[in-house]
Amino acid sequence: MAAVYRFVDDCEDKMLLGNKGANLVTMTKIGLRVPPGFIVSIEAYAEYKRTGRLPIEDIENGLRWLESVTGKRFGEGLMVSVRSSAPVSMPGMMDTMLNIKSKAHMISAIKKIFGSWDNLRAVEYRRLNNIPRDIGTSAVIQAMVMGNKDDRSGTGVVFTRNASTGERHLFGEYISRAQGEDLVSGARTPSPIEELRSAMPEVYAELESVAHTLESHFRDMQDVEFTIESGTLYILQTRAGKRSGQAAVKIAVDMAKEGLISREEAVKRVKPEDLKALLHKRVKSTEKHEVVARGLNAAPGAAAGKVVFHPLEALRLAEKNEKVILVRPETSPDDIQGIAAADGVLTSRGGLTSHAAIVTRAMGKPCICGAEEIKIDLKAEEFEARGHVVHKGMEITIDGTSGTVYLGSLPLEEVEVTAELQELLSWADGFRRLGVRANADTADMMKLAKSFGCEGIGLCRTERQFNAPERLSAIREYILARTEAEKAEALETLRLYQEQDFVAIFRELDGLPIIIRLLDLPLHEFLPSETDATVPRVREMVQQLREINPMIGHRGVRLGVTNPEIYRMQVEAICQAKSMVEPKVKVNAAVMIPQVITVQELLWVKRQVKAAGLKIGVMMETVRACMRAGKLAHEADFFSFGTNDLTQAVYSFSREDAEKKFLATYLRLGILQDNPFEIIDVKGVGRLMETAIMWARRNKKDIEIGVCGEHGGEPRSIRYFHQIGVDYVSCSAFRIPVARLVAAQAALDDKAGKTEAKIDTA
Ligand code: PEP
Ligand code: MG
Repeated sequence: MAAVYRFVDDCEDKMLLGNKGANLVTMTKIGLRVPPGFIVSIEAYAEYKRTGRLPIEDIENGLRWLESVTGKRFGEGLMVSVRSSAPVSMPGMMDTMLNIKSKAHMISAIKKIFGSWDNLRAVEYRRLNNIPRDIGTSAVIQAMVMGNKDDRSGTGVVFTRNASTGERHLFGEYISRAQGEDLVSGARTPSPIEELRSAMPEVYAELESVAHTLESHFRDMQDVEFTIESGTLYILQTRAGKRSGQAAVKIAVDMAKEGLISREEAVKRVKPEDLKALLHKRVKSTEKHEVVARGLNAAPGAAAGKVVFHPLEALRLAEKNEKVILVRPETSPDDIQGIAAADGVLTSRGGLTSHAAIVTRAMGKPCICGAEEIKIDLKAEEFEARGHVVHKGMEITIDGTSGTVYLGSLPLEEVEVTAELQELLSWADGFRRLGVRANADTADMMKLAKSFGCEGIGLCRTERQFNAPERLSAIREYILARTEAEKAEALETLRLYQEQDFVAIFRELDGLPIIIRLLDLPLHEFLPSETDATVPRVREMVQQLREINPMIGHRGVRLGVTNPEIYRMQVEAICQAKSMVEPKVKVNAAVMIPQVITVQELLWVKRQVKAAGLKIGVMMETVRACMRAGKLAHEADFFSFGTNDLTQAVYSFSREDAEKKFLATYLRLGILQDNPFEIIDVKGVGRLMETAIMWARRNKKDIEIGVCGEHGGEPRSIRYFHQIGVDYVSCSAFRIPVARLVAAQAALDDKAGKTEAKIDTA
């Protein structure tokens, strides 16, 4: 293997030449006007690191060749640049040396470039971007062209398409009478590239044709550096251009339509983050902002508004069309109206699966949770953070995508579900195996989820329907009832409400499948806190229902077993609603039992609701249910993994407390690689899921298995669920486009044989 390669040599190996070097060779080969040069390879870099020696003879041969092709002598007309070129693009992290005209200077320049692989910013960049530290860089030596030679000279950078919208036109800037450094350093203000069209129309036209040639060859949008010397255009570098989420989608779809790439390639190219950025409001990036606190990025999007500390205050202001941010230590079902009225929610406690996080994500509202640095004084109605005191009525902006809180009301950019995105996702639907359903609790949410392309509802949490004030008071009446007659009366009121809700939901779904989960929350969640409970009977019940560990307490099917009238009432409401809308509207509803640990519970519930004729499934969210999956599969019509509770159970981490207390430290110290409540833990929770799926399918081959925990909308987890044979994922409405895209990417990877081994059981 040679140590030095000329641009005209037949080697385009990125691992040997780095990106920049390999692309210069390619551009030379396809006939673009590239100043001649050669590359001191990554092999030579490795040798230099081992021995401290450069391949001097090969470099001198390279120089002699440069002199012969340029017809100029080194130092007398011929100057060179020396630039770094790694296999992975690390923009601006390593050094560049220009105008080199002596051999002594050039040799030290190569050493400097090689040395810059280890400079602090490059090391930090690699750490942040998970780039291995030992891949190394080559050094590209190229004849200089002079952008500062005369009035018909200049330098610039163009993207072959608009990097922010994706539209097909040159997008970039240039400076006349200047070298590349003037552009990068910001010393002079560049002009928009359109001005080149009037200044030098023939050069602009050539640049357009170069853009076309590059895109045809690389089949992607390119970021191109060029220099014009006395009216002649030279191309100095090309690489795939960075782009916004919107541009990524448009470019992928347009390129597929132009025949540059296949539809499969278009679907593979768009990253889940591109869609996330696209589907939510964001803070305009050009503004300067003061950060007042950071927390967990619990629900994406941005919102600006007046700070309020009480849900009813949020409601009051929202009714006057004011924008509000509800700030609470944490939220509870009691706060639901305030959350619905607010534009965004900020809490100082709670994690990514806390009440506030789940509710806002489902509503598509931005939310930051667990921002521990804000100290809230609910009485004084103010919070303090980083030396600022923010009173009720002052404005803040929250960015739930990054978890950042800013002082003041900042300008936001609107969401746009473009025609291109619809088209891309319809292609994705054709490739995927995994179904995509929504977690939605109301007809309105289902409408939204349908607009994002869900194929049904994988989880309808019925307790959410008890949140409106009149329903909350009905369930409280049931809890506070002293006699069976009082209980029955309260339940009948609730049944009528639920019936109304299901009628609306069935109409909205119009035949799409829905899984309705029977009540899961412990009853005390519907009562006020002990300090707010002023009525003696309420106080008595609050004390009676109080639990030390409510998350693993009297909830789910345990409540169904001790209070069977609740599940009976819910199933009756479902059946009644079904009979009210059929046959005009088709109903495809099933019920799901939460927190099951044994088949006896399932049999018991089935006996209670046996007349109903509904399919009954198990929410797989306890360890024991997973261990008994084979037996449960005999009796259950379907399974759906509740990965939030299952993660909590496998880790013995409280999902309400772990994120705020110690998970950040675990992640910082590298004890855990990822937050398990966000990204499925393949080695622990996943292994249990795989075992459960295996046993279940052994006993009931075609049992339908879904995932309805928050992981169902997270890209890495979705890929994994695809691999282990889950039938569908169910996630909040705003995550549906991402789930459709990633499910397709996982299937396409399978097709290309790229899927990794399922689990590392080590
Ligand atoms: C779960 O536990 O994963 C789940 C979806 O249910 P919830 O979050 O309502 O407990
Ligand atoms: Mg659960």
